Amino acid sequence: MERFLYTGNPARVVFGQGTIASLPEEADRLKARRILVLSTPEQASQAADIAKSLGARVVATFSKAQMHTPVEVTADAMKTVERHDIDALLSVGGGSTTGLGKAIALRTDLPQIVVPTTYAGSEATPILGETDGGRKVTRSDPRILPEVIVYDVDLTLTLPVPLSVTSGINAVAHAVEALYAKEANPVVSLMAEEGIGAIVRALPRIHADKGDVEGRSSALYGAWLCGVCLGSVGMALHHKLCHTLGGMFNLPHAQLHTAVLPHAVAYNASATSAAMERLSRALAAPDPAMALHKLAKGLGAEMSLRDLGMPDGSIEAAADQALSNAYWNPRALDRGALVQLLERAFRGDEPRLE
Ligand code: NAD
Repeated sequence: MERFLYTGNPARVVFGQGTIASLPEEADRLKARRILVLSTPEQASQAADIAKSLGARVVATFSKAQMHTPVEVTADAMKTVERHDIDALLSVGGGSTTGLGKAIALRTDLPQIVVPTTYAGSEATPILGETDGGRKVTRSDPRILPEVIVYDVDLTLTLPVPLSVTSGINAVAHAVEALYAKEANPVVSLMAEEGIGAIVRALPRIHADKGDVEGRSSALYGAWLCGVCLGSVGMALHHKLCHTLGGMFNLPHAQLHTAVLPHAVAYNASATSAAMERLSRALAAPDPAMALHKLAKGLGAEMSLRDLGMPDGSIEAAADQALSNAYWNPRALDRGALVQLLERAFRGDEPRLE
């Protein structure tokens, strides 16, 4: 076996159905007495319902979380933190709400309990992407990593099917890039293969029946594993493209990952044979890039970046920005090939192996 390095992120994970009943016990373990509950505006009432079980431990709510964690929103939330002398955070929602909790934790080192309701996986990482003046800056810091994750499968039953599909493929993207990461190691690769398999088996079930508890359970389990992968090793071309395109054109996060992933896999396939072998096994298909495209398309995902809002005539500029401060990638980045990749993704074409 080759030499490897593995760094695990400490976290307590409670997983199952009805697990939000354990919130009072989890809060007491953290000695939390003055909790701030965070959510998006859309999930404010769901978060308020969940917070009821914590009784007087909850002293404030802030329901203005937004995608890409704008620093103005965090500054606004910080006023609530200070005014109420908050000693712990409860984030109920997807990556946007988790991002706000992480941004507050970075500034205060407050402990976080996260109750995830999508498959984004942010709850399992010490990574925060914040937007300031239209620029997204990503950093990693141990203060950002949530202390407790309470995965309650019941809370994912309301996630609309289209977002379930794209959020699930967003999670798969983390694990795919972990398989060929510079720091790839046998432990993370095990989690990646298991996580991808759990999600791709679950998505058709969820597509057929939003309330399929077995499918929901498998997807949430896979999302956790994929989130751990994201938090454990560095990401490559796929994540760089998504950060670039998301930042430049404010494209929807999970949908963007879904449209780009098959093309990024096709680009890297020739340089990552061991990763592709694992990915083929997880997807139960010989050509992983094509299998991802077919899966997403077959489940109704939008595969054209143009239709997701990328403007005409922007491909060259996007390629240039993706190449500036590029992340490490297993295959050398070639501008011409990247432009072709983006052209295919722009049109929503099938991926092409090179
Ligand atoms: P999101 O959190 O923006 O949620 C999308 C919408 O769905 C929101 O309106 C939300 O309230 C709603 N929603 C969430 N769960 C629901 C449910 N169960 N039922 C009904 N509605 C529900 O979307 P996301 O894709 O989870 O997160 C995207 C954000 O997370 C981006 O800002 C991205 O950069 C960040 N992210 C960060 C990391 C990291 O490690 N730092 C990882 C993944 C994603």
